[in-house]
Amino acid sequence: MSKPSKFPDQKLKQPGDQHKMNPEPEIISKKYKSANKLKGKTALITGGDSGIGRSVAVHFAREGARVAIVYLEEDKDAQKTRQLVEDAGSECLLICGDLKKESFCRQAVNKCIDHFETLNILVNNAAVQFPKDDIKDISSQQLKETFETNIYPYYLVTREALDHMKAGDVIINTSSVTAYRGSKHLVDYAGTKGAIVAFTRSLSGMLAPKKIRVNGVAPGPIWTPLIPATFDDVTDFGQDTPMGRAGQPSEVAPAYVFLASEDSSYITGQFIHVNGGEIIGG
Ligand code: NAD
Ligand code: MG
Repeated sequence: MSKPSKFPDQKLKQPGDQHKMNPEPEIISKKYKSANKLKGKTALITGGDSGIGRSVAVHFAREGARVAIVYLEEDKDAQKTRQLVEDAGSECLLICGDLKKESFCRQAVNKCIDHFETLNILVNNAAVQFPKDDIKDISSQQLKETFETNIYPYYLVTREALDHMKAGDVIINTSSVTAYRGSKHLVDYAGTKGAIVAFTRSLSGMLAPKKIRVNGVAPGPIWTPLIPATFDDVTDFGQDTPMGRAGQPSEVAPAYVFLASEDSSYITGQFIHVNGGEIIGG
């Protein structure tokens, strides 16, 4: 019989389930000017129901792309995103399921293809985080949950998506400032975000001959449901950045538009640091 673990399983709080946020995040700036930069393209965005993913979905729609979003269980959030995408004049397919399951990673891509027939822009973005101040409090269950959610699906969804992607198409991965400077509260999460940087750089080299570009965005503190759902105190959130405030999703998504469009045609394997001015290496 195996010995009971020193680190018992704990209930892991899922982030952002229809979390009421006060104030509401800004999804797109009233001043945003679109220019049909993604006309005729199809995008698949994981974690597209809320936060940064929702904002990316709406910006892509404003640029003329059709959008499929993958989310865990937040139906109301997803429906709201669909409404916003439709208001922007485009179409939004909702795909609900757990990306920790390899079969669902395949299904998600297949549903997008069955519906839209093409896939040109893959945004790997879904994630969870469970802040802990002591590594002894990071249970094996938490470790598994964090890595299986935050990094495995980046590989698995990409692998499936590449069956349908061609020259000119792009992959954009969401990492984090924590990958570059570490985070003493998010030791496991930061590890997955570092893996995403190495994944992006490696895959960019692999796919350069196929003319598929692979880049990423490394956000700093951004006001999304993930934040009040996982941090006990959010009063100081973002105050320690050089700009002295948290960012809005509306300030992050334009970086994805740039990386998805022809405007970034000579850029691959790189990260854009949308972090309020923190200088980090890489
Ligand atoms: P969010 O909670 O609004 O979005 C994350 C989404 O991921 C959730 O809505 C959920 O539906 C989805 N998801 C989680 N587990 C899933 C699973 N097993 N299967 C399917 N979907 C799942 O939070 P956000 O802040 O917009 O996060 C988006 C990305 O930005 C994440 O990769 C996060 O690490 C990154 N990021 C956020 C911040 C920040 O301050 N908000 C900073 C740096 C990086
Ligand atoms: Mg959500």
